[in-house]
Amino acid sequence: MTFASLGLIEPLLRAIDTLGYETPSPVQGQAIPAVLAGRDLMAAAQTGTGKTAGFALPLLQRLTLEGAQVASNSVRALVLVPTRELAEQVHESFRQYGQFLPLRTYAVYGGVSINPQMMKLRKGVDLLVATPGRLLDLFRQNAIKFNQVQTLVLDEADRMLDLGFAEELRSVYAALPKKRQTLLFSATFSESIRLLAGQTLNDPLSIEVSPRNVAASSVEQWVIPVDKKRKSELFLHLLRERKWGQVLVFAKTRKGVDALCEELEAEGVSVDGIHGDKPQATRQRALDRFKAREVQVLVATDVAARGLDIDDLPLVVNLDLPIVAEDYVHRIGRTGRAGAKGKAVSLVCADEVQLLAAIEVLTRQTLRRVDEPDFEPDHRVPQTDASGQVLKKPKKPKTTGSKAALGRWVESESAPAKPQVKSVRNVPSFNTGPKKKKP
Ligand code: AMP
Repeated sequence: MTFASLGLIEPLLRAIDTLGYETPSPVQGQAIPAVLAGRDLMAAAQTGTGKTAGFALPLLQRLTLEGAQVASNSVRALVLVPTRELAEQVHESFRQYGQFLPLRTYAVYGGVSINPQMMKLRKGVDLLVATPGRLLDLFRQNAIKFNQVQTLVLDEADRMLDLGFAEELRSVYAALPKKRQTLLFSATFSESIRLLAGQTLNDPLSIEVSPRNVAASSVEQWVIPVDKKRKSELFLHLLRERKWGQVLVFAKTRKGVDALCEELEAEGVSVDGIHGDKPQATRQRALDRFKAREVQVLVATDVAARGLDIDDLPLVVNLDLPIVAEDYVHRIGRTGRAGAKGKAVSLVCADEVQLLAAIEVLTRQTLRRVDEPDFEPDHRVPQTDASGQVLKKPKKPKTTGSKAALGRWVESESAPAKPQVKSVRNVPSFNTGPKKKKP
């Protein structure tokens, strides 16, 4: 299959070529023809599968070939995303894919001044990427009208619901033209999302390119049991001992992010942090610096977990496990993208055993445990497995000399984990061809 055989027009093919994409990914192969044909879509796509191009390419084509010119304060296609970072990222993808097309695209989100956004919308934009809250603000202030909207995309729809945007989504729906195309994308499909889909989609084509809620098979995952109070010490130890390169670290709370940043900084590690309390410009700068490899460690709360695409990120560390098991899939999806291999290490303390069990049930695998010599916990983490069982009496850990333990570690770092997932046959892979060029 080629991009040309999917029926894409020449300016889009040229843009794809400059990015170095050779073959459509599985989600693209299915989504592009369906969206071009005007169908509604409900797509469950793993993180890093290329789903953005799956909707962006056909959408840009339809906007180019169909419909009237955009009126002032109007928009022809609307893409809703849960976070500001994702809004910027998705908009950047639209810019890249649409670089040879005469379309106006723009992104609006909260945390920054609304006035420049109102000014920009005056002329009208063909495609608008937006977070739901700011979009409604703009709508209520008459800065934007929805009567020209022909396509609505919900990206990371489950995350939008998790973040409490259900009410905003309902208000946006109420204001949109009834006759429109709706595309719903989500990495995980909870029951509430299926319900939402049932209410908003019209005879949708269902696409599921990966088993539900299974983490990317390209990510090797393991757990290191440790006492809660020694987590940051263990992280620093591993960073140095394993000579880790760039690492994205997830912490549960904003305070946790700040605390780890401070500790690492004091030890001379180049580190930055992002969480919801920081101003948008600071968050974006931290992300940009990390992407540009100006900082080695980026510490984040789950605000950064979804959708962010960081080239060649080799390692994700969970300093704390996420409260919501689905977030684990999203966090580790930041690595092992576009066919590359990645690693995800979780530092787990006894308090987190239920969270660990929930993750193992969701991802249908028992995560391998690797003790780190000198960091074996006093409060042992009870055994868990993919059935959700937590064994009350943990087995005594084998006493291993540091040499044996090191051997196990080396092996565990290089040998891929054997997930006890029944089928990973449908997990997509890319033929990326030559390394894609960044603009
Ligand atoms: P996404 O899942 O949309 O965030 O995309 C993940 C990464 O895959 C991004 O860096 C894209 O630029 C890249 N990508 C998307 N489609 C392709 C493709 N067909 N071939 C190679 N890389 C791709």
